[in-house]
Amino acid sequence: EAMDTEAKEALLEKDRKYVWHHITPHNENPMVVVSGEGSWITDADGNRYLDGMSGLWCVNVGHGRTEIAEAAAQQMKTLAYSTLIQSHVPAIELAAKLNEWLEGEYRIFFSNSGSDANEVAFKIARQYHHQRGKPSKHKFISRHRAYHGNSMGALGATGQAQRKLKYEPLGIGFTHVPPPYCYRCPFGQTKGSCETQCAQAYEDAIMWEGPESVAAIIVEPVITGGGMIVPPDDYLAKLRAICDKHDVLLIVDEVICGFGRSGERFGHHNYGVRPDIVTMAKGLTSAYSPLSATAVSAEMYDSFKTNGADSHFRHVNTFGGNPVSCAVALKNIEILERENLVSRSAYIGKELLSRIETLGEHPNVGEVRIFGSAIGIELVEDKLTKEPAHAATVAAIIAGCKQKGLLIGKNGDTVPGFMNILTLSPPLSTTDDEIAFIADTLLQVFEAGAGEDGR
Ligand code: PMP
Repeated sequence: EAMDTEAKEALLEKDRKYVWHHITPHNENPMVVVSGEGSWITDADGNRYLDGMSGLWCVNVGHGRTEIAEAAAQQMKTLAYSTLIQSHVPAIELAAKLNEWLEGEYRIFFSNSGSDANEVAFKIARQYHHQRGKPSKHKFISRHRAYHGNSMGALGATGQAQRKLKYEPLGIGFTHVPPPYCYRCPFGQTKGSCETQCAQAYEDAIMWEGPESVAAIIVEPVITGGGMIVPPDDYLAKLRAICDKHDVLLIVDEVICGFGRSGERFGHHNYGVRPDIVTMAKGLTSAYSPLSATAVSAEMYDSFKTNGADSHFRHVNTFGGNPVSCAVALKNIEILERENLVSRSAYIGKELLSRIETLGEHPNVGEVRIFGSAIGIELVEDKLTKEPAHAATVAAIIAGCKQKGLLIGKNGDTVPGFMNILTLSPPLSTTDDEIAFIADTLLQVFEAGAGEDGR
């Protein structure tokens, strides 16, 4: 299976010369991935790795699904492209299917990426307020630590300073509130015995900014990329009530949490809340084809029909909602339904958690957090002081797992020293044997790592 040495070296030579990598732009020796099957990927040397992060939290149905490839090929042969200035069958069917999944009435605007979907949400929110004679409502409030995308507006909503420095000024009108981070509560409270001050912080921010200037708040059901921060149970419902009180829209970013990752079809279903706008990408197609969607409540949509051309949403996207991506999404959702992967997701998370329970006693494990099948392990140098684990401690565990054939992730905050949360979010099709492999590998690596160097 391994590529011969010369061929691989030639490939790497080209990579070094021509490819600008994401995150690690000057990676001189990147893993060259050549194929994927189920939960596994294979590199050019023939090494197999369990894809413990589903790529970037996106390959929900697992790799190598030939029926998705066939659906894409069939659609390409029938109609490879049409705009959504007109309409086409896969987009119509997909928009209807998404309404079923959302359990509410929404109009669906298609684009290509999670960042796109959030930009669309921001523009629609502002125009909606214009349409209702409240043009001063233009600001957005999000959380520190949150990630909402790489474009100027979505990066504006992102609450991690180091991702923004050097690119500012970004989209104007974004402010941030502290995250609902119980392990390091920004309000000095203790989990389970607080009054959800983190939700109240949203109302305070709305009041400080002036409710007449605030268009919307945007949240992920849990902050995934910023450290797997799971809020108190009543947090999202409180935000809904605050939004209603101040005529502020609630945008829920389901780019990662959607399509089963949370153990429900959408993350917000765990909290019984109805958003005004839902953005989605990644798991919508399980990353087999680029596609994203911004679902806008039917009530909001109605205001875009009232004034003829004056109320049109002036936003065109050439590739957004193209027939091939929509056909891929439909097949992907069919698989999620047929194989019950949403409930499988909840099962995977619970099963993994029970198998790694003893990790909680490890001196470097501050807290283990879970949301559906996604797990975050917050590493510390000292359980009492909660000093974040040093980069070397985090790197050693990731490297140890990789050496044993398990790829896991890390995240947190880009503030130096806070990239201390290990993340695990395997495909929702992960088998029982694979769950055991993931858990055993983690346990072994943590055990081996507890050496004299403080690990
Ligand atoms: N929102 C969230 C919560 C995300 O995690 C991401 C990407 N990781 C995005 C938006 C942006 O998605 P994309 O990379 O497709 O633009």
